[in-house]
Amino acid sequence: MRKCIIIGAGPAGMNAALYLKRAGIDVVLIEKEVPGGEMLKTNKIENYLGFESIDGGELALKMSKQIKDLGIKIMKDKVLNVTKSDKFIVEMEKEKIEADYVIVATGRTPRKLGLRGEDELTGKGISYCAVCDGVFYRGKEVAVIGGGDAALTEALYLADLCAKVYVVVRRDLRASEVLQSRVKAKENIIVLKNVNVSKLDYDERLSSIILDDGKTLPVSGMFIAIGGMPQLNFLDDLDVMIKNGYIVTNDKMESSVKGLYAAGDVRYKDYYQIVTAVSDGAVAALSIKEEG
Ligand code: NAP
Repeated sequence: MRKCIIIGAGPAGMNAALYLKRAGIDVVLIEKEVPGGEMLKTNKIENYLGFESIDGGELALKMSKQIKDLGIKIMKDKVLNVTKSDKFIVEMEKEKIEADYVIVATGRTPRKLGLRGEDELTGKGISYCAVCDGVFYRGKEVAVIGGGDAALTEALYLADLCAKVYVVVRRDLRASEVLQSRVKAKENIIVLKNVNVSKLDYDERLSSIILDDGKTLPVSGMFIAIGGMPQLNFLDDLDVMIKNGYIVTNDKMESSVKGLYAAGDVRYKDYYQIVTAVSDGAVAALSIKEEG
């Protein structure tokens, strides 16, 4: 029986697993944390057909339940390296597995601003996830950095908890009109455009942020939502074509390495949505099915 290893149990990886299992291919899903990926950090999803409005964690749970009910094994482990001779060898912290195909569906990790103090203040005033950490800032003033869908989704979530939410955007908002009009309707969200954060003021915890127009925002929390970048060190031994940090694939989701596929946010593409991730996963699985 041909075997496929999927690295990453977000929507792309889980949907690839579902399609492979149904196609009769032996599939193992490897996840270093909890299945769900970025969905776990999103409070409300309103653009995934079939669910008018659903909590990201709930959708993640529904997907992983469906996968587990099909008898697909989800291994909790971290992939360290992938090599290829006759077959692929996927080396993890706890074991090594051989496979005929590999689908990389590891998504991307949040981009950092690169400010002095950013790393040491993570968890002490700096966060990359409002759903995870927003509750610690109830009644306080916070800032959200970024102007995309993620930043405004974070700001809307925080506006229901916090006294005031500043949205700091380096140019202009690029989020969808729906989100922008919701933000406009919230009296406690203040959007500041054409500014960057230039300095963090802190002792043990963040106490304020200083902007490059000279203003100081007296916030105890700063939520950074400026997109993300894939982490692909585990592919260093393979000759995978990368563009701007993302894996380049053809329209069958195959990378420059035969038998190695990529799906979801880890791919170089135009749209990074749950629905496009799920679709990439299905295409990768069906392409593998067609190979045999
Ligand atoms: P994004 O659309 O790429 O937006 C990133 C934002 O961060 C932009 O405002 C960008 O500014 C800013 N930025 C980037 N680097 C920066 C830096 N070094 N300093 C300051 N600002 C910086 O990323 P995203 O919002 O994470 O969204 C990613 C994808 O997920 C999108 O396709 C989005 O539609 C989707 N998404 C959807 C939902 C939803 O529908 N509920 C929620 C979250 C995400 P510039 O514009 O100046 O580059």
